[in-house]
Amino acid sequence: AAAIELKGVSHSYRGRLALGPIDLTIEAGEFVTVVGPSGCGKSTLLRAIAGFTAPTAGGITASGVPVDGPDPSRGFVFQQSRLFPWLTVAANVGFGLRRRPKAERVARVDELLALTGLADAARLRPYELSGGMRQRAAIARALAPGPRVLLMDEPFAALDAFTRERMQDEVRDLWRRTGTTVVFITHSVDEAVYLGTRILALSGSPGRVVLDERSELPALDH
Ligand code: ADP
Ligand code: ADP
Repeated sequence: AAAIELKGVSHSYRGRLALGPIDLTIEAGEFVTVVGPSGCGKSTLLRAIAGFTAPTAGGITASGVPVDGPDPSRGFVFQQSRLFPWLTVAANVGFGLRRRPKAERVARVDELLALTGLADAARLRPYELSGGMRQRAAIARALAPGPRVLLMDEPFAALDAFTRERMQDEVRDLWRRTGTTVVFITHSVDEAVYLGTRILALSGSPGRVVLDERSELPALDH
């Protein structure tokens, strides 16, 4: 089954149609970037895929299973990291694993901290981190349960240009190494074209898919 499939999905807020209808199939391993003007429904689309909000019409499946709420198989990264400020980086990253046996949790957290370049930051708290480190920690937390799909809503929008470019390369590297399917919203066409194996543009009110192009980027090579 497709990683994500939307059939006739639309969403209204207080009776006003904001998105759709959208028909969309995302295959496992794709890195889909989503661009479009403010208010065209990008976040609404991503939140629906996450299961944070139920679409007002249509259906969404993930690996063939209907989406009916949030699930660790779909990790989510927000523009602001939304780390728990009272927890260390390691505890934030391990948060979704707190019911797993301790040895397994510690090993997994160590692996993710290494993968995201945060090994030396394990005992720090979010306020002690730079913006880039915070987003790395948020990505590590989302990856902890081993999601099939990573949903990212303008994750680098709050970062300075230098850090953003570094993070773009890091997230592409993570995508290659973990084999996760990524759906990534951005305001930047440059970022969308640089990162995506497939670029979707949404436009209009209600927002519809107005462009859906695959890029020449090599897909997953493992
Ligand atoms: P984008 O992410 O592309 O900026 P959104 O999905 O955030 O677009 O919003 C799409 C439309 O729905 C906008 O017109 C926005 O004002 C409206 N909208 C988004 N969230 C809500 C909400 N919680 N309540 C009412 N209207 C909303
Ligand atoms: P405490 O020091 O009170 O145990 P922390 O907030 O530092 O609390 O850690 C909470 C959880 O995060 C721990 O139970 C542990 O499983 C995990 N953890 C903490 N530090 C590390 C680390 N360096 N490597 C891996 N896991 C860690």
